[in-house]
Amino acid sequence: MGELWSNWAGQQVCAPARVERPGSEDELAETVAKAAAEGRGVRPVGSGHSFTDTCLTDGVMIDQTHMQRLLDVDTATGRVTVEAGIKLHTLTAELARHGLALENQGDIDAQSLAGALATATHGTGARFRNLSAQVLGCRLVTASGEVLEIDEASDPDAWRAARVSLGALGVISQYTLQCVPAFRIHRIDEPRPIREVLAHLDELVEGHDHFEMLALPHTDTALTLASRRTDEPADPPGRFEAWLNDDFVPNTVVGALAGLGRRVPTQVPRIARLMARVAGRYEQLDASHRVFAHDRRVRFTEMEYAIPREHLAEAFSRVMAVIADRRLPVLFPIEVRFTAADDAFLSTAHGRETGYIAVHQVVGAEFETYFRAVEAIMDDYDGRPHWGKRHYQTAATLAPRYPGWEAFAAVRAHLDPEGVFTNDYVRRVLGPPSV
Ligand SMILES: Cc1cc2nc3c(=O)[nH]c(=O)nc-3n(C[C@H](O)[C@H](O)[C@H](O)COP(=O)(O)OP(=O)(O)OC[C@H]3O[C@@H](n4cnc5c(N)ncnc54)[C@H](O)[C@@H]3O)c2cc1C
Repeated sequence: MGELWSNWAGQQVCAPARVERPGSEDELAETVAKAAAEGRGVRPVGSGHSFTDTCLTDGVMIDQTHMQRLLDVDTATGRVTVEAGIKLHTLTAELARHGLALENQGDIDAQSLAGALATATHGTGARFRNLSAQVLGCRLVTASGEVLEIDEASDPDAWRAARVSLGALGVISQYTLQCVPAFRIHRIDEPRPIREVLAHLDELVEGHDHFEMLALPHTDTALTLASRRTDEPADPPGRFEAWLNDDFVPNTVVGALAGLGRRVPTQVPRIARLMARVAGRYEQLDASHRVFAHDRRVRFTEMEYAIPREHLAEAFSRVMAVIADRRLPVLFPIEVRFTAADDAFLSTAHGRETGYIAVHQVVGAEFETYFRAVEAIMDDYDGRPHWGKRHYQTAATLAPRYPGWEAFAAVRAHLDPEGVFTNDYVRRVLGPPSV
């Protein structure tokens, strides 16, 4: 038997026929063409941080660990070309060395660039779009081993499709990104009453470059993360303070309390109130990539929905009410974020200012009752699930929620008519490859 593969949360497992680790675009093209000629399915994989079965295959898995080079940097224009397998933490450190940065980031940087882009990974900030909006162009290896150069000028539809592709069009070998000059972020994390945050939500979202709320279920407390971009010199927290707030509390303390809650679900509301007391004020002023992303080690599973921003407060309140009314043993915070609209066909923020609501459960705890209850609420708001996070939708329920659905399907039918890059997940959420 070959290698067993599992995702970060350890809940998605498969036994690919083989795992290939090409070291260059030529090797990648050869590998893909050989697998397709053998009649095998092909799935690219990044860091395995998706919670869905999106990477699973019994065919050939392509791991781009050996394709992480920075190929070209133009510091004058901010245009950067990189191999698709580069990890976000490597990319942002390299960009910083050249006085550049990603415009926005999510809350971790362990993902590969290709993996993060393929599922429309996002951060928060109502004026900023998700990561895929920074893609100027890419190179895509199709099933025949042909390498296509895709950008807005040469093929606008393929470009809008390839920016968020779910790995369903082929394997991307390189991206050219539009980066921004390096900047610093001043972020203040502090606990506040949830009702106060909701009463001033628009002000908080508009008044900060990046605003996020982590609301603790069974309590009236939220931790708010409010940031502004600045040119002020960095003033990072001391080592002890950083360790306490970035490592010990979110990893060790939350891990211990989440484990306790899993073993004694009846005590969850009490533990949640204890967590609310642990949440304190924490301030950071540092390079953007150091403030955006932190190491998260407590293993959990997650669902996240993108809904029109104007419905955010109502949908969020309904999620909190479901947890309270049904006494769901939920300890992880409800995470609320915002992004601007964009135009990638399958971006969760396609064509609309977006609010995101994410729910989590610690690995080992039952999650389906909770996640299905939350999904039923999100259905009322035309919710679009994060492609890398758990959901129960199908192509039939998703198609009406994406104005670019048909256009994506046409690109896919053209680039992968045989469905070489289609696995069970892709079949469920996008349907068969031909239109
Ligand atoms: C702790 C944690 C924190 C997270 N925080 C955030 C967050 O802040 N914001 C957010 O939006 N999401 C977040 N996520 C979700 C995560 O960003 C996405 O699931 C992302 O897709 C994972 O990237 P990856 O490199 O692990 O990709 P994988 O999960 O390995 O793969 C994801 C998809 O990318 C495809 N793919 C990989 N490489 C290629 C390629 N070369 N060409 C074409 N397709 C390819 C795969 O086939 C698959 O469909 C988080 C996940 C975890 C576990």
